[in-house]
Amino acid sequence: MKTNILIIGSGPVGATYARIIAEQRPQAKILMVEVGPKVSDSIGQHVKNISDPKKMEMAQILSQGPKKTPYPMISVAERALAVQRGELTADVLARAGTHLVLDQPEDIKTNEMPSISMSTNIGGMGIHWTCACPRPGKGEQIPFIAEEEMDKAFTEAEKILHVTQEAFPISAEGETILHILNQTLGDKHSPKRQAQPMPLACKVDSEYNRYWTASDLILGDTLNHPNFELRSETICRKLHYQDGRITGAEIEHLPTQEKTIVEAEVVIVAADALRTPQLLWASGIRPKALGHYLNEHPFIFTFVELDKDLVKNHSPNPTAKIHNRKSPDPTVGVFWTPFDAPNHPFHGQIMHMDLSPMKTTVTDDSKHIVGLGWGPLKEANFEDCIVFSDTEFDYFGMPKMNFKFKFTEKDLEAIEAAKAFQQKVVHSFGKEIKDGGQTLMPPGTALHYEGSTRMGIENDGESVCDTYSKVWGFDNLFVGGNGVIPVATASNPTLTSVALAVRSAEKVIQQLK
Ligand SMILES: Cc1cc2nc3c(=O)[nH]c(=O)nc-3n(C[C@H](O)[C@H](O)[C@H](O)COP(=O)(O)OP(=O)(O)OC[C@H]3O[C@@H](n4cnc5c(N)ncnc54)[C@H](O)[C@@H]3O)c2cc1C
Repeated sequence: MKTNILIIGSGPVGATYARIIAEQRPQAKILMVEVGPKVSDSIGQHVKNISDPKKMEMAQILSQGPKKTPYPMISVAERALAVQRGELTADVLARAGTHLVLDQPEDIKTNEMPSISMSTNIGGMGIHWTCACPRPGKGEQIPFIAEEEMDKAFTEAEKILHVTQEAFPISAEGETILHILNQTLGDKHSPKRQAQPMPLACKVDSEYNRYWTASDLILGDTLNHPNFELRSETICRKLHYQDGRITGAEIEHLPTQEKTIVEAEVVIVAADALRTPQLLWASGIRPKALGHYLNEHPFIFTFVELDKDLVKNHSPNPTAKIHNRKSPDPTVGVFWTPFDAPNHPFHGQIMHMDLSPMKTTVTDDSKHIVGLGWGPLKEANFEDCIVFSDTEFDYFGMPKMNFKFKFTEKDLEAIEAAKAFQQKVVHSFGKEIKDGGQTLMPPGTALHYEGSTRMGIENDGESVCDTYSKVWGFDNLFVGGNGVIPVATASNPTLTSVALAVRSAEKVIQQLK
């Protein structure tokens, strides 16, 4: 079959490409293939928008590839204890809605990123994400893209993702939390990078009802466009090429095993930071940097019970009352302590327990618990990589992956510095919950995998694609997603990946006939 554009992967990045191309070239035929199934009534919606808890759990299970049963809800403290005892099992390492890349005990032992995971469903990880969309700070930015150009792309990405800092009402507790964070950051911190409400991807109405962003909102009208087709449960296993052009893509509809060769003017692989390089590898496209420079920021987590007198003792507003929230919503929201090297070379995220993807052992609702996640940068190293097998295959019949990933001396120092800063915040907020001390989570837990198809300014073996995400040596092959990010970041990466897709989509459009 023939199409103008083939997009492989239906997560936020694939959806961004589809939307921009459909808007600007409505006559172009776009085929999107997704190996995972449709998991809810509405195509590509965030699981948090599903009001029926049973349907929501079913949507999570359907996203878990080979894992057809729910994972037990394990608290951070229980995970930490299991990790200390060396009891690394899939149940301890994985999270609802995702599945471990390697879930067999013998593989877990050899994997240096034991929690490394993916989601296999329409919408990808982007129907399970927390929706935090901070812009990267000084020390995390891509050095070879002009700041104004990147700012423009970020603004467009924020529009596409519906990013807002007003997802939650301002409360006395929230104001106090921000005040304490800013005091801890001190006066050397850049005024633009003060602690503030986390920019979140969601639509919010005047009653603070939130509709979280996923591929349904990103695609918008594209979903009903006559030239757009989305095929679920359809895997792309191999790309054929000749003289620097992709000439065909082998796709298979898994339920019927029907195989088709797709001929497309342009092919965009947005199949996450692990399976994008996997598909290139399987196709024999193996630039030296493919799968290398795999990066993920360390992730230190703890839970704090807020001091009952926090507002009375620390509020910037002496008349504030603890119950002055503008809506009956019982949460205080999500707060951001931005990365800003050298003063605060960490990304800090504070979440009310109900909103946190991590769980505690506390069951007493009267306690006001917040989760604190802090992360420094991890050095980007060639040796940190995906190891693809030519002889063994995964559940989907693709080259089996294993992972090499080591913290350097510098990384360990950065982790200690992040812990020390986090500890200062803990002491000003209240006390850590029982069994819940600061825990460096096993690599893979942050779910922010970067660098495996990184961009660069020249084809020198250090990168896989150019600054517009076009794979070196190819005319019509683009890669998208967190793998394209060429620098280490501690901030959540999706906004950056969507911004890079915005820039790249313009290039794709320019080269369409
Ligand atoms: C619980 C959780 C919380 C998170 N919180 C945040 C957050 O707050 N902020 C943030 O920035 N990020 C967060 N993330 C990460 C975020 O979800 C990802 O960065 C984002 O989804 C990446 O988008 P993507 O389109 O590149 O990849 P994905 O969303 O992973 O989509 C890739 C799709 O490609 C499909 N695919 C793979 N291989 C093939 C193939 N060969 N053929 C066909 N289809 C294929 C997959 O099934 C998948 O659906 C979180 C993730 C999780 C799970």
